[in-house]
Amino acid sequence: MSYNFDNLISDAKGILDKAAVKAGEAVDYSKTQIDRAQLRAKINEKYTELGRLCFNMHETDADETGKMKIVINDIRSLNSKLTEADKAVNAKKTKTCKFCLTKNDADSSFCTKCGEKLF
Ligand SMILES: [Zn+2]
Repeated sequence: MSYNFDNLISDAKGILDKAAVKAGEAVDYSKTQIDRAQLRAKINEKYTELGRLCFNMHETDADETGKMKIVINDIRSLNSKLTEADKAVNAKKTKTCKFCLTKNDADSSFCTKCGEKLF
């Protein structure tokens, strides 16, 4: 079983959630980042499941195509959720003014501090 950074974040969220419930208070963490990590971890699990089904099909001649189609649809659905989450994160990115180094919203055309054109 491989253990990567996404699993680590996913586990960390579980621990934080339990701690929050215990303390009866909200925990401040970057929700979108953690959601994306969970989605990536789930997608990896689905790919592993798909690989296992494929392997089993070749090993035993069992017809796993029905199960494989379900897993493939799960991956498609998770991938589109991840794309949406990525868009949400990208929307929060900033444009830094070359002249005064002020960080502006990514959709700004001019710096809010010095008025220079942003690229
Ligand atoms: Zn500026």
